[in-house]
Amino acid sequence: MSIVEFKNVVKRFGTTTVLNGIDLTINKGEVVVVVGPSGSGKSTLLRCINVLETIEEGDITVNGLSVRGSGAQVRELRREAGMVFQQFNLFPQLTALENVMFGPVHTRGSARKQAREEAIALLGKVGLEEKVNHYPGELSGGQQQRVAIARALAIRPQLMLFDEPTSALDPELRHEVLKVMQDVAEGGMTMIVVTHEMEFARKVGSRLIFIDGGKIAEDGAPADLLSNPPSQRLKDFLQHVA
Ligand code: ADP
Ligand code: MG
Repeated sequence: MSIVEFKNVVKRFGTTTVLNGIDLTINKGEVVVVVGPSGSGKSTLLRCINVLETIEEGDITVNGLSVRGSGAQVRELRREAGMVFQQFNLFPQLTALENVMFGPVHTRGSARKQAREEAIALLGKVGLEEKVNHYPGELSGGQQQRVAIARALAIRPQLMLFDEPTSALDPELRHEVLKVMQDVAEGGMTMIVVTHEMEFARKVGSRLIFIDGGKIAEDGAPADLLSNPPSQRLKDFLQHVA
């Protein structure tokens, strides 16, 4: 069953075409790792899915909801797609617990008591039961990113989007975030992960996509593409990130 469908998607910024006719189907439970050179449109691809950017041509659907749909449809679509950013983007004036409760209370209309219990459980899942009442400024980058993952999961999305979730972290803090992402993947979540963590791609990814020149240049099994890159472009890219 497909969760995400791109049909001939074109995205431009002014006269620059960033996505140039993307066709892509992602099925339930897939963990799709997206790689590509800087500026190749990886963030834009994710941002078009939850309508942080609009597209010029084609269509994207999430669980059948179109990014070109009505305002109500787009709001519903956004609740299907949790997003985790490179820079965490937590609310600094709210505690970890309040950050995680925010979505359920304000966008899902959940009762506070239930939202609170679920948020505590989610923070426990990401290993932060001790930190529920801490503010983001009191947490390490790795802890903040785990709060951000819990916050995205709290809206009970069908799909999780990760945009270089470990790039802003010191190397020794990356592992704890990657471990949580692996747990989420093993729980059956459908995920699209932009990352340079090739070990994660190989171990956790079920599919690897290489974006280049506004197009999907490669799409296949991570182990195959990483061990035997079919094109010189991918070979060069992998040498660059390794
Ligand atoms: P990546 O995430 O692969 O590094 P991005 O999706 O961020 O690439 O950007 C792709 C291209 O689109 C780049 O050339 C970037 O400069 C351009 N771009 C991204 N966002 C904007 C924007 N809001 N306005 C104008 N150009 C943008
Ligand atoms: Mg990016």
